Order: sequence, then structure tokens, then C-alpha cells
Amino acid sequence: MRIYLDNAATTQLDNEVFKAITPYLLEYYGNPSSHHEHGREVKQAIEGARATIADLLNASPNEIVFTSGGTEADNTAILSSVRCHQIKHVITTPFEHHAVLHTLEVLKNNGEVKLSFINTDSHGNLDINHLDALLRSSSRSLVSVMHANNEIGNLNNIDLIGQVCKSRGALFHSDTVQTMGHYRHDLSKLYTHFIAASAHKFHGPKGVGFIYCRDGVQLSQLLHGGSQERKLRAGTENIYGIIGLAKALEVAYRDIDEHQVYIQKLKNRMIAKLQEQIGDVYFNGNSAIADKSLYTVLSASLPDNHVAGDLLTYFDQNNISVSGGSACSTGTASHVLKAIGANLSRNTVRFSFSKFNTAEEIDYTVEKLSALYKAIAA
Ligand code: PLP
Repeated sequence: MRIYLDNAATTQLDNEVFKAITPYLLEYYGNPSSHHEHGREVKQAIEGARATIADLLNASPNEIVFTSGGTEADNTAILSSVRCHQIKHVITTPFEHHAVLHTLEVLKNNGEVKLSFINTDSHGNLDINHLDALLRSSSRSLVSVMHANNEIGNLNNIDLIGQVCKSRGALFHSDTVQTMGHYRHDLSKLYTHFIAASAHKFHGPKGVGFIYCRDGVQLSQLLHGGSQERKLRAGTENIYGIIGLAKALEVAYRDIDEHQVYIQKLKNRMIAKLQEQIGDVYFNGNSAIADKSLYTVLSASLPDNHVAGDLLTYFDQNNISVSGGSACSTGTASHVLKAIGANLSRNTVRFSFSKFNTAEEIDYTVEKLSALYKAIAA
């Protein structure tokens, strides 16, 4: 048995998505910028994909710009705020993905922006009054707050944050990479200027995503060259990626309620089994609180296993794929765990679930873990 519990890193491609993509690998190979039929039919498919995504999110098609994934969408939102909207102050959280934090650090080190961080508690809850105070005391700012954290799963109230930004005239970007396809986003109601999404986090292909940019908000051109994506992003489009992205979102939205219930049950089972069989376990941030965390992510703090070596290697040797913090920060102490003041001498394991996981896999994983700790104690 091979068990994949690292769905916050990436997800398995859905079979329906695979079927939707294959004609664009084999039959429809025209360049969408070409004016002949081969090109036109592909161009039409791209615009169809854009319309599907816009429709699902209650946005308009011209608000969706395809990118190579979440990283590019995050970079674009931030750089556009600085280049097109004269933003000189950015308010963010210490928990953001490096796609946001590293971009902001570069801008700060270049002297282009001043950075402020919203105060948080030891569970990673944001102090919204502090955000309001920061906004009140500075010129027009960009607020960049992720919808859900990829390591500990904390959900942030982006409806409320959007309202605070609105009342203070701030730009708002939310990295929704971990929630897109897992929660319904109604962009006609959410006060946000930009959001970022990535297909491979919801059973779509890797290397494709999109940035949503609200009508009337300017985006800066990241890549120069051809006139693709209304001259916002040059380069021949990733056609199969775009088709797969739209299909993945369509499938996700179709089954969203059923999958949420199913996956939340798996997560609850994992929490209960770990508490029962390991005992000395706690959960980082709001990870174990159902309405305050992603139902796909559980960050467990487990006892130091001293003699047993690396816990992640043990899982790997037992054909169970899990992650320590996030896949991107492998090998270094997680900035998220540090920011919440987690006990770094304990072992943190991030279990992340999908619709393809089963209760048997959860049971087997906890049994393997329990066997390890029993062997150490013996
Ligand atoms: N933002 C968050 C919250 C993520 O979890 C990730 C991926 O792990 C990214 C951004 C980057 O997305 P991508 O891998 O599509 O560039």
C-alpha cells in the first residue's frame, strides 16, 4: 500500500481532467494566436475556460488572467500594486507563503516598500484591530493576507479583512491557493482586488494557475513579448494547462459539499486516532478546530522520537508520503511554526488529505506511527 497524505503540496490529477486535456495534446495543437482554423479553435477553448472559471467565481472573464501558477499570481499582484498603484506600504502576516514573503522582502530591501506585520496570537489568529490601526496610521497600503495557511491550515476571515480594507481605502490581495476548489469563492461579494490560484492544488495540472484582478484595477505586465492575455502576459499559452485548470475547478465545484464532508471526516478520524494511540500529541495553530482551519490540512506536533531518527524518513520507508512543514521549505525550520512559537524540538508532521484518501489509509498511518513510538518505549 502506498499512501499519499501530502495534498497541500500537490494533488493527484483527476481522471475527468486528464480526459479533458488529452484532445489538446493530440488533436487541437494550433497556436491560439494564429488566425486560421487550427488557431481559432484553440483560442476559443481558452476563452471558454476563462468563462467557466469566471462563472464559477462570480467574476467576469476579463478579470481572469492565466499564469504559470500561484507563485506568479502572487508576484503579479504585489508588483502591480507597487508599479501601477504607487503602493509604498504593505501590510501582511508572518505566515504567508514564500511567493508573497520573498517578493515583499525584495521590494523592501530595494527600498520600494515599507513592510508591516499584523499582530497574531500563538494560534496564528490575526489581530484585526491592529490591521485597522496600521491602515489608519499610514498612506494608501496594500494588504496581502492568505485565505488559508498551507502549513497549519489556519483560515483567515478574508470577508472581514476585505471590509476593513474597503473602509480604509486599501488594496487587498489574498493568496487563495489552498482554498480555491475547496471552498466557494463569490468574488462579487468579496472585497478583494487580487486573488491567486493554482490548479495542481485541486486535482488539476501543475504549472498553471490564474490571477483574478478586479475590473478597473490595473495589472502590470510581467512578461514582455506577444500580445497574449490582453498584453498582460506574453508567451504562447499553456493550452492543456488552462483547459485542465477550468475542468478541475468545474469538477471541484460540482462535488464541493460532498467532498468537504468526506474529507473533514477523514481529518476528524486522524485527530481522534492520534489522540487515542499516541496520546502526547497536539495540533499547531487552529489546525484541529473545524471552522477555523482548512479541512484538508492537519498539522500535528508529535513527541521527539530521539533514537528513531527522522520521522519523515520513517513514514517514507513505510510508503506513506507526508510532509514536515510545507514541501517548499523542506530542510529548513518552518517560518510559520517559528511565527506561532511552536516547540521546534518536537516533530511536526503535516497530514493533508484529498477525496482520494480512505479511512483505511488514515488507520494504517496512525498504526505505523504508534508502532514506532511503542518500539521506542519498549
Ligand atoms: N501560495 C500558497 C499558499 C501555496 O501553498 C503555494 C504552493 O505550495 C503557492 C502559493 C505557490 O503555488 P505554485 O506552486 O502554483 O507556484
